[in-house]
Amino acid sequence: MAHKQFDLVVIGAGPGGYVAAIRAAQLGMKVACVEKSRTLGGTCLNVGCIPSKAMLDSSELFHLAKERFKKHGIQFEALKLDLPALLARKDEVVKGLTDGVRYLFRKNKIEPVFGTARVSSPQSVHVELNEGGSADLQTGHILLATGSEPAGLPFLPFDGRTVVDSTGALSFDRVPDHLIVVGAGYIGLELGSVWRRLGARVTVLEFLPRIVPAADQELGELLKRSLTKQGLEIHLETRVTGASVAGDRVTVSAQKKDGSNTEFACSRVLVAVGRRPFTTGLGLSEVGVAVDPQTGRVPVDPHFRTNLPTISAIGDLIEGPMLAHKAEDEGIACVEILAGKAGHVNYETIPSVIYTWPELASVGLTEEQLKQRGVSYRAGKFPFLANGRAKAMDETEGLVKILADAATDRVLGVHILGPRASELIAEAVAVMEFAGSAEDIARTCHAHPTLSEATREAALAVEGRAIHS
Ligand code: FAD
Ligand code: NAD
Repeated sequence: MAHKQFDLVVIGAGPGGYVAAIRAAQLGMKVACVEKSRTLGGTCLNVGCIPSKAMLDSSELFHLAKERFKKHGIQFEALKLDLPALLARKDEVVKGLTDGVRYLFRKNKIEPVFGTARVSSPQSVHVELNEGGSADLQTGHILLATGSEPAGLPFLPFDGRTVVDSTGALSFDRVPDHLIVVGAGYIGLELGSVWRRLGARVTVLEFLPRIVPAADQELGELLKRSLTKQGLEIHLETRVTGASVAGDRVTVSAQKKDGSNTEFACSRVLVAVGRRPFTTGLGLSEVGVAVDPQTGRVPVDPHFRTNLPTISAIGDLIEGPMLAHKAEDEGIACVEILAGKAGHVNYETIPSVIYTWPELASVGLTEEQLKQRGVSYRAGKFPFLANGRAKAMDETEGLVKILADAATDRVLGVHILGPRASELIAEAVAVMEFAGSAEDIARTCHAHPTLSEATREAALAVEGRAIHS
């Protein structure tokens, strides 16, 4: 490929970049998308959301068969884990979806360019092609969507085998006898759950006094209790300070809140202490794009423009939660604005989900945030234990909590711990998007028997008039 002219060159084909490319093509732009991996889809499709959910689903089925089928009256002779088959299915799911993005690029006439991109001027991108050689792309606009990478700990370097990041923990070739997980956030709890269900002893070390620090505290505490019941050994206020690897064994040193030191021996360590924006080799400082030296994030204005008017940035690279749907929405809004439309992301209504079992899904403010801001609110709660469908499913853990403004009844936050909370949260997001009230949910007819009736009952509970509790 010699010199080519585009309206938009997107760097990075993750959910931010590839979705932006498709929307831009729909809007009539001539688009190229540069990706340094062999496949499209970014972290999310290749080594993030999708493979982790495939493994969560498989391990959940295994766990159900082992622990819960009997209660449903289903018995069988022997149950065996076929880990290679489980991993192969995960890889197939990933392949199906990444190939799907390729198909969408063809359909929308987007030019995929496989290679490593560097911004060479405010309107040109140099690419070292994966197949050898290079290409220079001239463009009206550049969209940076290069995502993030695991943060890691300096004294616990990843070796890809014994001390791993999330990608390593998606493909252990056998179930570790003892897995230590550093960090009780999204990745630690999701992948810790996977390997616990498949038979590993799992110890989670978290330096804060609670798991999932950003979540509503009451529901976070309930999730901790549930995970502990499932066998995850969770140590809070435990800061990992060092580690030594000897062959196949690792000794992790940690410090408790009272200053005492402690050690944990294991066969594998998953370090899941957060992710940081990825800008290595992108040429940003050379071309003059500002990067926040503290966070590594690229500052943007409300229209996603960096300090250079022809360069925008979205997704994990910029401020906000590192979530695939946030990156997608920013990608769409960004290119709609470039096309002269009114693109917009409502950051008040971005849901977050931790795909443990039960799942923890949230949107809006937590009780702690409302108290901090001095907002007076009413809380309505309804337990799944009193929901007919949850009982039929034998999935009665958790509750729905709705937080509504005390004066106006407007829904300010919804937090759900329970079966399929990831699906249930969509109703709350839609209501909040339309500035709806708890009464709006309470007056909406919900099919019976469904888990969603728990949401309606929680809305009724805001007024102290739940029917079934
Ligand atoms: P990415 O998906 O990181 O994509 C960036 C792309 O840019 C990559 O493909 C990279 O190869 C490419 N790139 C980087 N530099 C260059 C360059 N110089 N030239 C060319 N290409 C380049 N989020 C959720 O919402 N739900 C989940 O369930 C979820 N689960 C997750 C599970 C795990 C294990 C992990 C690690 C993350 C998970 N996330 C989840 C987070 C989610 O994956 C990210 O928020 C999302 O992928 C960010 O999208 P992005 O487009 O900004 O960046
Ligand atoms: P995280 O920010 O969710 O959690 C990191 C945890 O590690 C925190 O609780 C933190 O207090 C703890 N920690 C940090 N340093 C520590 C230390 N030295 N010792 C012990 N604990 C320590 O980060 P993550 O789990 O690595 O995930 C990265 C990001 O990827 C998430 O923030 C999220 O944006 C995204 N993600 C989302 C999903 C999802 O949407 N379901 C799933 C996986 C990842």
